[in-house]
Amino acid sequence: MIDFIDVAVGTGGGVACERCHGSAMPAEYMATSELLGLITRAVADSRTVPGPNLALTGPEPFGHPDLPSLVAAAVDAGVSRLRIDTDASALRSQDNAAGVLAAGVRHFRFSLLGGSAGLHDVLAGAPGALDATLTGLDVLRGEVRAQGVTSCLSALVPICRHNLHDLPAIAAVAVEAGANAVLLRVDDPGCDLAAAVPWMTAACDTGVVNGVWAEIEGVPFCLAPDHALHVSDVLRARSGAKAPACRDCRLDELCGGGPVDASGDLLAVLAPPARAGDLAGAVSRARGSVGHDA
Ligand code: SF4
Repeated sequence: MIDFIDVAVGTGGGVACERCHGSAMPAEYMATSELLGLITRAVADSRTVPGPNLALTGPEPFGHPDLPSLVAAAVDAGVSRLRIDTDASALRSQDNAAGVLAAGVRHFRFSLLGGSAGLHDVLAGAPGALDATLTGLDVLRGEVRAQGVTSCLSALVPICRHNLHDLPAIAAVAVEAGANAVLLRVDDPGCDLAAAVPWMTAACDTGVVNGVWAEIEGVPFCLAPDHALHVSDVLRARSGAKAPACRDCRLDELCGGGPVDASGDLLAVLAPPARAGDLAGAVSRARGSVGHDA
């Protein structure tokens, strides 16, 4: 997937499992003047190819009173791709959907914690949240068609012990909602990765049979060798996520290891996969280059 520079528009808020992270802190938005400076500098300093690409993240960006100015600043600074990470509830307003597309935003990312309201809403701690998200995405897709533009809609799935059995269903809902890509990200250092991987790979397969690529982030190659090309966040050595055995693995330069803060139990089971050399070659060819600094 294409790299974006994240600029959080404030603190608090967001869509995350309440059982893992507790209730979200109230959203507090950064002053517009400060954000305009951050956005302009981030675009100017970006060396990402293709790029520059910027994502407005943090608490719901549509809750920021000056979102139109923030978008305009990014466009004026010369951003190539501008993404808004949103729960999409504000997009239920046709004016919002039409306005943000007219302003130049073409990339949107939404988060799914469950494949049903029964799970998503409970984990998000927000009754009606899934319905609001899906309705907003429906309005957005209608505006995309009406304006005759191309947009990219991606789904982020934070994986934890409370939703891993639902991952294939979540992927199916993401596809149904119009996602072009699904990123399955481990968001729970205590999650049993060995138990979770079959659900993650099933979710990848659900996406692929529907023509939507899915990536898994926070899982090392040795736990999902048959889905090596779905393993994301490669080329990023993460402190605390590698085992001593990784030093002898042909995938060491390519593999991000386990989730940051991975426990000793996980690190103890990491071992070079049987076909590490073949996998390293295949992944290197697929990625086009090795060793870029993400
Ligand atoms: S042994 Fe280490 S480097 Fe090799 S695939 Fe597993 S986690 Fe990655």
